[in-house]
Amino acid sequence: MASLYSPDSTEDMDQEMAKISAADNLTADALRQTRSRAAPSKYHDAYPGRQLHKISGVRLPDKPPTTLWDISLFDGKVTGIETHDPEVCRECTPPGVLDGLNRLLAPSLCHAHVHLDKCFLLQDPKFSDLQIENGDFQEAMELTGKAKSRFEEDDLLRRGRQLVEESIRHGVTAMRAFVEVDGGVYFKCLDAGLKLQEEFKDQCEIQICAFAQLALFSGDDKGEEIRRLMAEAARRNGVDVVGSTPYVEQDQSRMKENIRWISALALTCGKHLDLHLDYFLDESKQPLVWSVLDIVRDQSWNEMTDKLITLGHCTRLTRFRDEDWRRLRHDIGSLPVSFVGLPTSDLFMMRTAEKVRGTLPVVEMIEKHGINAALAVNNVGNAFTPHGNCDPLSIASLGVGLYQAGTKRAAEVLYQTVSSRAKEAIGCQSNSLSLAIGEPADFILFDRMETGWRCRKSIVEVVYDAGSVRITVRNGRVTAA
Ligand SMILES: [Zn+2]
Repeated sequence: MASLYSPDSTEDMDQEMAKISAADNLTADALRQTRSRAAPSKYHDAYPGRQLHKISGVRLPDKPPTTLWDISLFDGKVTGIETHDPEVCRECTPPGVLDGLNRLLAPSLCHAHVHLDKCFLLQDPKFSDLQIENGDFQEAMELTGKAKSRFEEDDLLRRGRQLVEESIRHGVTAMRAFVEVDGGVYFKCLDAGLKLQEEFKDQCEIQICAFAQLALFSGDDKGEEIRRLMAEAARRNGVDVVGSTPYVEQDQSRMKENIRWISALALTCGKHLDLHLDYFLDESKQPLVWSVLDIVRDQSWNEMTDKLITLGHCTRLTRFRDEDWRRLRHDIGSLPVSFVGLPTSDLFMMRTAEKVRGTLPVVEMIEKHGINAALAVNNVGNAFTPHGNCDPLSIASLGVGLYQAGTKRAAEVLYQTVSSRAKEAIGCQSNSLSLAIGEPADFILFDRMETGWRCRKSIVEVVYDAGSVRITVRNGRVTAA
C-alpha cells in the first residue's frame, strides 16, 4: 500500500506550486496570478498546456482511497495505470510529469446544455437596467428579448469568453453551447459562438447548437424568416447541432410542425437534434414527447443518421406515473434519445398555482427506468436563472437533496450526469469512473493537500461538497490550474 504524503503548511504548498509550475512550465507571472486567484490577463499565455505523459501519485475513483496511482498518457489517451512508487523522488519530477500530490483524479466535466449568448446579462454593465422585478417566465422572455436587441459582437464575446473560461476552471472540457438565430439577432450570436469555438479549441470542445428560441411557425410572417435563417445556419461550418423550443408556438399543431421541421433539418444537414420540450407542469396538458418520438421514428431517424436526439427541461414528465415511464422507455426503443434535467432553472421558473415545483427525476430515470439522462446548468446569470455559476458539480450537489440521493452509488450516478453521461448525451468522447486504458485523458484533480483530512478522496465527497480548487486536464494537457 502506498504511503500518503499530506503537506499541510504554506511551505509545502509552495513546494507543490513549484512542482506544478515545473511540470506545466507556467511562467513566474502566471504562477503569481494562480496564487492570488486573480484571473490571468491572457488566458492562453497563462496556461500553455504542455503535453503531459504522466500524472503521478493520484487517488482514483474506483480504487481504495488509501492507494496512490500513476496514470500514463500518450496522444490524449490513457495508456497505463500503475501503482505509484512512494520511493520515487518527488523533488525531481521530470518535465511532462505532473505530480498529483495525492489528489483525487476523476473524469472531467461537461455542460450538456448551456446558453452561451445570454449568460451574465444581469451582471454585465451594458444590460444593468434590465433587472428582475417579478421573477416569472414571461418577464424572463421580455428582459432577454430586450437584451437581445442590443447584442453586439463585443459583448457576446466578452460574456461568452467569461463563461467558457470559468467553466474550464471548474473542470469542464466539453460543452453544448446554444446560440440563438432569429430575425432580431440574425447570425450575431452564432458568429460569436463560432469564434469562441475556434479560440478555445485546444482547451474545450464547444459544440455549437444553432437554436430557434422563437417560434418557427407562429407570428407575423408565420416563421418564414426564422426558418430561412435557421436553414442557412445549419449549413455553416462548425455548427454541430440544431434545436428549437416547440412550446413557444401558438397551438399544438404548430408545435408538431416545429418538431417535424427542425428534425428534418437535422437529418438533412447531418446534425444532432436538441429540443427544449414540455416546459410546464400542468397535468391536464399533454406532453409533446410522444409526438417527438413518433415524428423521428416516421422520419426513419436510425436508418438515416448516427446523430443523437437530446430533450431538455421536460418538466411535464415529473407528473408521469410508473406506467408512463415504462411506455416512454418502450417508445424510445433504439432511438438515441437522452434527457437533460435543468433543475436550477426549473425550480426558479416552474410552479403550479399551488406552488408545486418539478424537475426531471434524473437519478430515477437512469436507475429505475433505464433512460439516458444528464444534468446541466442551462443559464448562468440571467432572468431565467439568476442564481448559480458555471460549475456543473454544483448541480450534481443540488441533486443530492433534490432527489434524496445520498448513497455512494447515487452520488456516483450524479457525478456521471455532469461528466460521462453528459458527454454521451451530446455525442462527445467520454471517460468512465474507472478511467480505463484507451479512454480520453480529460480529467479534474480536486483540492490541495493542505486541507489535511478534509481533502476530498472519493466521488461521494466531491458530490457532497466539491470545493473550488481544481486542476483541469484536456487531451493530456493542463488547461486550468
Ligand atoms: Zn436551455
